[in-house]
Amino acid sequence: MRYEGPIYRPPSEAHSLLIQATIGCPHNRCTFCMVYKNGPRYRVRDVAEIKKDMIVAKEVYGSQIRTLFFPAGNTIAMKTDDLCAICCFAREIFPQLERITVYGSSQYIHKKGPGGLQRLAEAGLSRIHVGLESGDDVIIKRIKKGTNSAQQIEAGRWVAEAGIELSLYVILGIGGKERTKPHATNTAKVLNAIEPHFTRLRTFVPKINTPLLEDVKRGSFEMLGPHEVLKEAVMLIRGIEVSTCITSDHYTNYIKLDGKMPDEKPRLLKTINEFLKKDENFFRPFFVGQE
Ligand code: SF4
Repeated sequence: MRYEGPIYRPPSEAHSLLIQATIGCPHNRCTFCMVYKNGPRYRVRDVAEIKKDMIVAKEVYGSQIRTLFFPAGNTIAMKTDDLCAICCFAREIFPQLERITVYGSSQYIHKKGPGGLQRLAEAGLSRIHVGLESGDDVIIKRIKKGTNSAQQIEAGRWVAEAGIELSLYVILGIGGKERTKPHATNTAKVLNAIEPHFTRLRTFVPKINTPLLEDVKRGSFEMLGPHEVLKEAVMLIRGIEVSTCITSDHYTNYIKLDGKMPDEKPRLLKTINEFLKKDENFFRPFFVGQE
Protein backbone atom coordinates (compact mmCIF):
# COMPACT_ATOMS: atom_id res chain seq x y z
CA MET A 1 0.00 0.00 0.00
CA ARG A 2 1.22 3.47 -0.83
CA TYR A 3 0.78 6.93 0.70
CA GLU A 4 2.24 10.23 -0.45
CA GLY A 5 2.29 13.53 1.46
CA PRO A 6 0.95 14.29 4.95
CA ILE A 7 -1.66 11.91 6.37
CA TYR A 8 -4.63 14.10 7.18
CA ARG A 9 -8.02 12.79 8.23
CA PRO A 10 -10.85 13.91 10.52
CA PRO A 11 -10.85 12.51 14.10
CA SER A 12 -14.14 10.75 13.28
CA GLU A 13 -12.25 8.62 10.71
CA ALA A 14 -9.70 7.41 13.30
CA HIS A 15 -10.83 3.79 12.88
CA SER A 16 -11.33 3.94 9.12
CA LEU A 17 -9.23 2.26 6.47
CA LEU A 18 -7.36 5.05 4.62
CA ILE A 19 -6.87 4.43 0.91
CA GLN A 20 -5.37 7.43 -0.84
CA ALA A 21 -7.36 8.30 -3.96
CA THR A 22 -5.95 11.79 -4.57
CA ILE A 23 -2.77 13.52 -3.48
CA GLY A 24 -2.60 17.12 -2.24
CA CYS A 25 -5.37 19.70 -2.71
CA PRO A 26 -6.45 21.25 -6.04
CA HIS A 27 -7.26 24.54 -4.28
CA ASN A 28 -4.36 24.86 -1.82
CA ARG A 29 -4.95 28.59 -1.28
CA CYS A 30 -6.74 28.87 2.08
CA THR A 31 -4.78 31.37 4.16
CA PHE A 32 -5.10 29.38 7.41
CA CYS A 33 -4.15 25.95 6.03
CA MET A 34 -0.62 24.58 5.90
CA VAL A 35 -1.33 20.95 5.05
CA TYR A 36 -0.13 20.98 1.44
CA LYS A 37 1.64 24.36 1.25
CA ASN A 38 4.97 22.59 0.76
CA GLY A 39 3.48 20.03 -1.60
CA PRO A 40 2.88 17.49 -2.92
CA ARG A 41 1.04 19.03 -5.88
CA TYR A 42 -2.51 17.87 -6.51
CA ARG A 43 -3.00 14.81 -8.63
CA VAL A 44 -5.47 11.96 -8.90
CA ARG A 45 -4.15 8.44 -8.50
CA ASP A 46 -4.76 5.81 -11.12
CA VAL A 47 -8.01 3.92 -10.47
CA ALA A 48 -6.29 0.54 -11.03
CA GLU A 49 -3.66 1.46 -8.42
CA ILE A 50 -6.34 2.52 -5.88
CA LYS A 51 -8.15 -0.79 -6.43
CA LYS A 52 -4.88 -2.70 -5.91
CA ASP A 53 -4.43 -0.98 -2.52
CA MET A 54 -7.95 -2.04 -1.52
CA ILE A 55 -7.18 -5.65 -2.47
CA VAL A 56 -4.03 -5.58 -0.29
CA ALA A 57 -6.05 -4.06 2.60
CA LYS A 58 -8.63 -6.84 2.28
CA GLU A 59 -5.86 -9.47 2.48
CA VAL A 60 -4.45 -7.84 5.63
CA TYR A 61 -7.58 -6.71 7.51
CA GLY A 62 -10.41 -8.76 5.98
CA SER A 63 -13.81 -8.20 7.56
CA GLN A 64 -12.43 -5.91 10.30
CA ILE A 65 -12.89 -2.99 7.90
CA ARG A 66 -16.16 -1.22 8.66
CA THR A 67 -15.50 2.32 7.44
CA LEU A 68 -13.38 3.62 4.58
CA PHE A 69 -11.97 7.10 4.07
CA PHE A 70 -10.41 8.15 0.76
CA PRO A 71 -7.89 10.97 1.48
CA ALA A 72 -6.59 13.60 0.56
CA GLY A 73 -7.65 17.30 0.68
CA ASN A 74 -10.40 17.32 -1.93
CA THR A 75 -11.07 13.83 -3.25
CA ILE A 76 -14.54 14.96 -4.34
CA ALA A 77 -12.70 16.80 -7.16
CA MET A 78 -11.92 13.44 -8.83
CA LYS A 79 -13.85 12.69 -12.02
CA THR A 80 -17.30 11.42 -11.00
CA ASP A 81 -16.85 8.23 -13.06
CA ASP A 82 -13.58 7.40 -11.27
CA LEU A 83 -14.91 8.17 -7.80
CA CYS A 84 -18.00 6.05 -8.54
CA ALA A 85 -15.75 3.23 -9.77
CA ILE A 86 -13.67 3.10 -6.56
CA CYS A 87 -16.77 3.40 -4.33
CA CYS A 88 -18.49 0.52 -6.19
CA PHE A 89 -15.34 -1.59 -5.99
CA ALA A 90 -15.04 -0.91 -2.24
CA ARG A 91 -18.68 -1.92 -1.66
CA GLU A 92 -18.06 -5.11 -3.67
CA ILE A 93 -14.90 -6.30 -1.92
CA PHE A 94 -15.87 -5.08 1.57
CA PRO A 95 -19.57 -6.07 1.75
CA GLN A 96 -19.65 -5.26 5.48
CA LEU A 97 -18.73 -1.57 4.88
CA GLU A 98 -20.89 0.84 6.86
CA ARG A 99 -19.52 4.09 5.45
CA ILE A 100 -17.39 5.56 2.64
CA THR A 101 -16.22 9.14 3.19
CA VAL A 102 -14.24 11.85 1.40
CA TYR A 103 -13.23 15.47 2.01
CA GLY A 104 -14.82 17.99 -0.35
CA SER A 105 -14.94 21.78 -0.61
CA SER A 106 -18.20 23.40 -1.67
CA GLN A 107 -16.88 24.62 -5.05
CA TYR A 108 -15.94 21.06 -6.09
CA ILE A 109 -19.18 19.59 -4.75
CA HIS A 110 -21.04 22.28 -6.68
CA LYS A 111 -19.34 21.23 -9.93
CA LYS A 112 -20.77 17.71 -9.49
CA GLY A 113 -24.34 19.09 -9.56
CA PRO A 114 -27.35 17.21 -8.13
CA GLY A 115 -27.04 14.47 -10.81
CA GLY A 116 -23.37 13.76 -10.08
CA LEU A 117 -24.02 13.61 -6.34
CA GLN A 118 -26.92 11.24 -6.89
CA ARG A 119 -24.64 8.94 -8.90
CA LEU A 120 -22.03 9.03 -6.13
CA ALA A 121 -24.67 8.17 -3.52
CA GLU A 122 -25.81 5.21 -5.65
CA ALA A 123 -22.17 4.09 -5.98
CA GLY A 124 -21.92 3.98 -2.19
CA LEU A 125 -20.40 7.31 -1.12
CA SER A 126 -22.10 7.97 2.18
CA ARG A 127 -20.49 10.99 3.88
CA ILE A 128 -18.65 14.17 2.83
CA HIS A 129 -16.59 16.31 5.23
CA VAL A 130 -16.77 19.94 4.12
CA GLY A 131 -14.70 22.82 5.46
CA LEU A 132 -17.41 25.49 5.63
CA GLU A 133 -15.17 27.53 7.98
CA SER A 134 -17.57 30.54 7.95
CA GLY A 135 -20.88 31.60 6.45
CA ASP A 136 -19.75 35.24 6.29
CA ASP A 137 -18.83 36.26 2.72
CA VAL A 138 -16.28 38.87 3.85
CA ILE A 139 -14.40 36.20 5.81
CA ILE A 140 -14.77 33.52 3.10
CA LYS A 141 -13.13 35.91 0.64
CA ARG A 142 -10.39 37.00 3.06
CA ILE A 143 -9.36 33.43 3.86
CA LYS A 144 -9.40 32.61 0.11
CA LYS A 145 -11.74 29.66 0.52
CA GLY A 146 -12.65 29.82 -3.17
CA THR A 147 -16.42 29.80 -2.68
CA ASN A 148 -19.20 31.96 -1.21
CA SER A 149 -22.13 31.44 1.12
CA ALA A 150 -24.70 31.03 -1.69
CA GLN A 151 -22.62 28.28 -3.31
CA GLN A 152 -22.01 26.63 0.07
CA ILE A 153 -25.75 26.54 0.71
CA GLU A 154 -26.61 25.12 -2.72
CA ALA A 155 -23.84 22.49 -2.59
CA GLY A 156 -24.80 21.49 0.95
CA ARG A 157 -28.46 21.08 0.08
CA TRP A 158 -27.64 18.98 -2.98
CA VAL A 159 -25.50 16.64 -0.86
CA ALA A 160 -28.31 16.17 1.65
CA GLU A 161 -30.91 15.71 -1.11
CA ALA A 162 -28.73 12.98 -2.67
CA GLY A 163 -28.92 11.13 0.67
CA ILE A 164 -25.25 11.65 1.53
CA GLU A 165 -24.41 12.65 5.12
CA LEU A 166 -22.90 16.08 5.44
CA SER A 167 -20.32 16.94 8.06
CA LEU A 168 -19.58 20.70 8.13
CA TYR A 169 -16.58 22.28 9.85
CA VAL A 170 -16.77 25.75 11.38
CA ILE A 171 -13.67 27.57 12.67
CA LEU A 172 -14.41 29.70 15.73
CA GLY A 173 -12.35 32.90 15.69
CA ILE A 174 -11.55 32.77 11.95
CA GLY A 175 -12.92 36.31 11.49
CA GLY A 176 -10.76 37.71 14.30
CA LYS A 177 -12.03 40.39 16.69
CA GLU A 178 -13.28 42.54 13.82
CA ARG A 179 -15.81 40.03 12.44
CA THR A 180 -16.73 37.87 15.41
CA LYS A 181 -20.40 38.91 15.35
CA PRO A 182 -20.97 38.63 11.55
CA HIS A 183 -19.06 35.32 11.59
CA ALA A 184 -21.39 33.85 14.23
CA THR A 185 -24.65 35.21 12.84
CA ASN A 186 -23.95 34.55 9.14
CA THR A 187 -22.58 31.07 9.85
CA ALA A 188 -25.74 30.24 11.81
CA LYS A 189 -27.82 31.45 8.81
CA VAL A 190 -25.90 29.17 6.41
CA LEU A 191 -26.21 26.21 8.78
CA ASN A 192 -29.96 26.87 9.06
CA ALA A 193 -30.25 26.89 5.27
CA ILE A 194 -28.32 23.61 4.87
CA GLU A 195 -29.30 21.62 7.99
CA PRO A 196 -26.15 19.46 8.00
CA HIS A 197 -26.07 16.13 9.86
CA PHE A 198 -22.98 17.26 11.78
CA THR A 199 -21.57 20.67 12.69
CA ARG A 200 -18.00 20.22 13.88
CA LEU A 201 -16.40 23.13 15.73
CA ARG A 202 -12.71 23.96 15.54
CA THR A 203 -10.97 26.98 17.05
CA PHE A 204 -8.61 29.05 14.95
CA VAL A 205 -4.95 28.27 15.72
CA PRO A 206 -2.39 30.00 13.47
CA LYS A 207 -0.29 27.42 11.64
CA ILE A 208 3.33 27.67 10.52
CA ASN A 209 3.94 28.56 6.85
CA THR A 210 0.55 30.24 6.46
CA PRO A 211 -0.36 33.78 5.37
CA LEU A 212 -2.72 34.11 8.35
CA LEU A 213 0.12 33.53 10.82
CA GLU A 214 1.98 36.40 9.14
CA ASP A 215 -1.12 38.60 9.58
CA VAL A 216 -1.25 37.67 13.28
CA LYS A 217 2.44 38.56 13.70
CA ARG A 218 1.99 41.88 11.87
CA GLY A 219 -1.05 42.70 13.98
CA SER A 220 -3.38 43.02 10.98
CA PHE A 221 -5.39 40.05 12.29
CA GLU A 222 -6.41 40.23 15.95
CA MET A 223 -7.10 36.81 17.40
CA LEU A 224 -9.87 36.17 19.90
CA GLY A 225 -9.00 35.18 23.45
CA PRO A 226 -10.66 32.15 25.12
CA HIS A 227 -13.63 34.12 26.52
CA GLU A 228 -14.22 35.82 23.16
CA VAL A 229 -14.18 32.46 21.39
CA LEU A 230 -16.71 31.09 23.86
CA LYS A 231 -18.92 34.17 23.43
CA GLU A 232 -18.76 33.64 19.67
CA ALA A 233 -19.84 30.01 20.21
CA VAL A 234 -22.81 31.29 22.26
CA MET A 235 -23.88 33.62 19.42
CA LEU A 236 -23.51 30.82 16.87
CA ILE A 237 -25.43 28.22 18.87
CA ARG A 238 -28.17 30.72 19.76
CA GLY A 239 -28.65 31.34 16.03
CA ILE A 240 -28.94 27.67 14.99
CA GLU A 241 -32.56 26.62 14.67
CA VAL A 242 -32.33 23.38 12.69
CA SER A 243 -31.53 19.79 13.53
CA THR A 244 -27.75 19.15 13.58
CA CYS A 245 -25.33 17.29 15.87
CA ILE A 246 -22.82 19.77 17.26
CA THR A 247 -19.46 18.44 18.32
CA SER A 248 -16.13 20.04 19.17
CA ASP A 249 -14.08 16.91 18.47
CA HIS A 250 -10.71 18.63 18.04
CA TYR A 251 -7.58 19.55 20.04
CA THR A 252 -7.84 23.22 19.04
CA ASN A 253 -10.99 23.84 21.08
CA TYR A 254 -11.09 25.34 24.57
CA ILE A 255 -13.95 23.17 25.82
CA LYS A 256 -15.76 19.96 24.89
CA LEU A 257 -19.25 20.39 23.49
CA ASP A 258 -21.54 17.64 22.22
CA GLY A 259 -25.25 17.94 21.68
CA LYS A 260 -28.16 17.52 19.32
CA MET A 261 -29.68 20.76 18.15
CA PRO A 262 -32.11 22.28 18.66
CA ASP A 263 -33.28 20.17 21.65
CA GLU A 264 -30.03 20.43 23.56
CA LYS A 265 -29.41 24.11 22.86
CA PRO A 266 -30.17 25.18 26.49
CA ARG A 267 -27.73 22.57 27.86
CA LEU A 268 -24.97 23.59 25.43
CA LEU A 269 -25.41 27.28 26.26
CA LYS A 270 -25.42 26.51 30.00
CA THR A 271 -22.14 24.57 29.64
CA ILE A 272 -20.46 27.46 27.81
CA ASN A 273 -21.74 29.99 30.33
CA GLU A 274 -20.27 27.89 33.19
CA PHE A 275 -16.85 27.98 31.48
CA LEU A 276 -17.19 31.73 30.91
CA LYS A 277 -17.05 32.15 34.72
CA LYS A 278 -13.51 30.71 34.75
CA ASP A 279 -10.39 32.84 34.55
CA GLU A 280 -8.76 32.98 31.06
CA ASN A 281 -5.67 31.22 32.51
CA PHE A 282 -7.81 28.10 32.98
CA PHE A 283 -7.88 27.47 29.21
CA ARG A 284 -5.17 26.03 26.97
CA PRO A 285 -2.39 28.50 26.11
CA PHE A 286 -1.81 30.17 22.74
CA PHE A 287 0.31 28.07 20.39
CA VAL A 288 1.34 27.96 16.76
CA GLY A 289 0.16 24.80 15.03
CA GLN A 290 2.83 22.63 13.44
CA GLU A 291 0.58 20.33 11.39
S1 SF4 B 1 -8.35 23.96 3.94
FE1 SF4 B 1 -8.87 22.27 2.54
S2 SF4 B 1 -9.43 23.32 0.61
FE2 SF4 B 1 -8.26 24.81 1.83
S3 SF4 B 1 -6.14 24.55 1.15
FE3 SF4 B 1 -6.40 23.25 2.99
S4 SF4 B 1 -6.92 21.23 2.16
FE4 SF4 B 1 -7.24 22.72 0.50
